[in-house]
Amino acid sequence: MAKVNARNPFSGLANIAHWSYFICEFKLSQLFNEFQPIAAIATTPNGVKRLQSLCPTLGATLWVSAACATPGAQVYQGALKEQVAELWPKHRALIFCLATGAVVRLISPLLQDKSVDPAVVVVDEAGKFAISLCSGHQGGADRLTRLIAAQIGATPVITGAANALGYPGVDVLGLPFGWVRGAGDWTGVSATIARGEPVQVRQEVGSTLWQQHLPEGHPFLFDLGESAAKARIWISYSQGQFAPNPEMPQVQWHPRVLWVGVGCERGTPKTAIAAAILQVFQANDLAVEAIAGIATIDIKADEVGLLELCGDRQWPLRTFSAEKLRSQPVPNPSQIVEQEVGTPSVAEAAAISAVNPAVNPNNNTGEKTGRSLLVAKQIFRLEGQPGAVTVAIAVADTEYTGRNGQLLLVGTGPGDLTLMTPGAQMSVTSADVVIGYGLYIDLIKPLFRPGQIIESLPITQERQRAKRAIELANWGLTVAVISSGDSGIYGMAGLVMEELRAQNWDGQIPGVQVFPGITALQAIASRVGTPLMHDFCAISLSDLLTPWPVISQRLIAAAQADFVTALYNPKSQTRTEQIVKAQEIFLQYRHPETPVAIARSVYREDEQITVTTLEKMLETPIDMLTIILIGNQSTGVYHQWMMTPRGYLGFER
Ligand code: SAH
Repeated sequence: MAKVNARNPFSGLANIAHWSYFICEFKLSQLFNEFQPIAAIATTPNGVKRLQSLCPTLGATLWVSAACATPGAQVYQGALKEQVAELWPKHRALIFCLATGAVVRLISPLLQDKSVDPAVVVVDEAGKFAISLCSGHQGGADRLTRLIAAQIGATPVITGAANALGYPGVDVLGLPFGWVRGAGDWTGVSATIARGEPVQVRQEVGSTLWQQHLPEGHPFLFDLGESAAKARIWISYSQGQFAPNPEMPQVQWHPRVLWVGVGCERGTPKTAIAAAILQVFQANDLAVEAIAGIATIDIKADEVGLLELCGDRQWPLRTFSAEKLRSQPVPNPSQIVEQEVGTPSVAEAAAISAVNPAVNPNNNTGEKTGRSLLVAKQIFRLEGQPGAVTVAIAVADTEYTGRNGQLLLVGTGPGDLTLMTPGAQMSVTSADVVIGYGLYIDLIKPLFRPGQIIESLPITQERQRAKRAIELANWGLTVAVISSGDSGIYGMAGLVMEELRAQNWDGQIPGVQVFPGITALQAIASRVGTPLMHDFCAISLSDLLTPWPVISQRLIAAAQADFVTALYNPKSQTRTEQIVKAQEIFLQYRHPETPVAIARSVYREDEQITVTTLEKMLETPIDMLTIILIGNQSTGVYHQWMMTPRGYLGFER
């Protein structure tokens, strides 16, 4: 890879011939990855049409009756009931365009349990409603319903109690963070919440981000001394033993914080390793669900038993060099081990290495609390089996999410939600976290769903916002970073990309998708007429990051070249001179009567729009929420409408 050139920071990237290989394809269907595979089922021509338009985005397979056969759809023969029974166990989501009554009859013999049943969503033929029919929480039908509704402009019908109250469902609470549900009376605790009764939360490990974004009046009590509680949520790595108690139902979530350090002799079978781990967990009342992964020395990276065990349990295997392990202080070093593999500790040192250094995304300071070894090494020799296994356990500050994060860089348009693309709306709805400037967060509030983490930061902290988003995405969350207008036009998308590059991003993880939006220059144009019908350009008057001589040079060039010119960031409380100078420059090249549109808060409640002239433009109040559009030499005004002719046969001046 070429060195980055100081004058042209992008020279190191410029292998243009290969661009088509490393720009990923944009696929809205990525928002639906967690629901795959999805089947869509219709039995009438209108139903087929309705679902046909949805399927490509959803990445769903369309199933239709023989009478409705159409290209691209699978045709089922015989009774729909049998077909649904066949699709049921093979899909994570089923979408019907059928009467809800018919769907209820079709699925009723198939329903087992909300922890295993697929999401079922019903869309009406007119496309007015998307209904979350069953498996709303754990199956994800509520979320899927919201996404489908955003896509087709339908009303999402979600009837779960937690949703109406604006709380995260207790059985999906930890999913964004990769927590695993443990034992407990889930229905009992959910019912307590639905009744509005207090629920005690005893959280020992894992992210507390969810606590910080609960709506007012929520039922959760975090003070353990509080005795009014009618149910309990226990978030820990311990294995709770609950006696059934209808008075005080309890549930357990297990954040994946435990790293199991393993040392073993060559050829130790996976059953022996699994049995050793299980014994340690049982002896210490630890939950196997809380295992983040396995850590060991790099020469064990090809140890078959370990690899098989990790594969079966979907545990990551982290390996460290002897040199790295040697540098880790441990309570129980061994000379024999040192002679064999070059480090006095494998299990303990690897477990500790796997949890450090842990930057904690739960607090914004990146501070480390340095928690670590929980169970010192235990050696197992299993009767009748070859090999020996050493196990040690360390606790990480930050749970392992088991997911690759995503950054969704979203343009929300000028303000009115109808001007935000359905794709952008879906991206916000699907995200675990939404980050943006408070004003824009407020404008898109209707898109949020209960349990989402919303972080609004002041307008001056764009860089911090970008860093925060990347930190959370690196951790495995799906993060929507929002900007008004288009995110890639003086917006957050550029800052996030710059920051990713500064952090040596590999271009793959976290994944990045940019959702375009209507930028302020299009917004103002649409409110005053058709001023952009000929060549135009945009110039930001902010000299915070661009030196004024560069801006001034561009203003001169644009004025000379007769571009219709949009001025972004025209004036702030402290930056007042630039707009005066810009006017002076334009007056040198354009007639004083040239039409100028000035718009503040376009498409927002307090919108103000003025069409004036270049000469008089400074008489209108201008601030940071204002955009200015200066016409070209043939732009004119006709009955209050500003228009630029397509060619140069325009208004006479
Ligand atoms: N990404 C945004 C621009 C951000 S820079 C976009 O594509 O529109 C911020 C500047 O954009 C503001 O100072 C103002 O000049 C302009 N702007 C953004 N939204 C606006 C709106 N609704 N009304 C008027 N100006 C707006």
